[in-house]
Amino acid sequence: MRAALLHGPGDLRVEDVAEPGGEVLVTVEAATACATDAKCLRHGHLILGPYPARFGHETVGVREDTGARVLVGDSVPCGTCRFCASGRTQLCARMTWVLGGFAQQIAAPAAALHAVPDGLEATGAAMAEPLAAAVHAVARAGAAVTTPGARAAVLGGGTMGLMLARLLVLAGCDVTLADRHEERRAQARALGARAVATLDAGGHDVVMEAVGRPDAWRTAIDAAAPAAVVVLVGGCPAGSDVTLPAAPLHYAELDVRGAFHHTPAEVDHALALLASGDVDWHALAGPTVGLEDLHDALLRPSGGEARKLVVDPHR
Ligand SMILES: [Zn+2]
Ligand SMILES: [Zn+2]
Repeated sequence: MRAALLHGPGDLRVEDVAEPGGEVLVTVEAATACATDAKCLRHGHLILGPYPARFGHETVGVREDTGARVLVGDSVPCGTCRFCASGRTQLCARMTWVLGGFAQQIAAPAAALHAVPDGLEATGAAMAEPLAAAVHAVARAGAAVTTPGARAAVLGGGTMGLMLARLLVLAGCDVTLADRHEERRAQARALGARAVATLDAGGHDVVMEAVGRPDAWRTAIDAAAPAAVVVLVGGCPAGSDVTLPAAPLHYAELDVRGAFHHTPAEVDHALALLASGDVDWHALAGPTVGLEDLHDALLRPSGGEARKLVVDPHR
């Protein structure tokens, strides 16, 4: 079978490799890509195994043993560490990562597999992985989101920011998304949010940062109203430091929370949102490429509309 293998930072090769060994063999129908995959290619990533490493973590396919269509979840929490025991399985100290969607087949532990609802196409189902992270981030904001009339802001109109905006609209918030690209602002409006180029300071009860730069974290805190919850969703480059304003953190009692990854239950919730159409995956689907074009497609500079790259490993 054909697979995209990382041999080192920047070194992606498409090769014929042996059928992967593991609990359940899945023939990949579609794998979507995100900034994490570009990071894996450019710099490597702590979730990657030793080189040569398989990657791709938003994967849908068909089980070889049962013929059922499944989302191959990218992680299996251990279930026994203190984080798992407290229900915060996204922080599992012994997480098993399941990577390798950019290949014709992937082997996965049965515990990583999620049933895809009938009628949901493979490309849409693959987006349940990032959408689950958005579901998790909104859950991190807690009751602030469901307070009637809550004013929510989303910083960044990439696919994650757009998913967050849609979930906040569904929750009943008055949502403003900020992005410098007009095309992305138009996408946000189509999802039911207001859209602006830059966020006004103050006035937002919930702020979600989905850019992943220290200056954006600071902007998110500046956009918060007193007693607001600020959720930091975008991962900053490794080693980043962020300078924060002390006064609002203290006198305005801002709650600043990180959001990382998701739980298996949040993946199932995301699949249901995509199947029902509450989150329209077509609005977020980009071009489909084969494995041979993956390298260039991942390194292409983003701009214009925010859409996810779709990989069909059989084309
Ligand atoms: Zn991803
Ligand atoms: Zn654990």
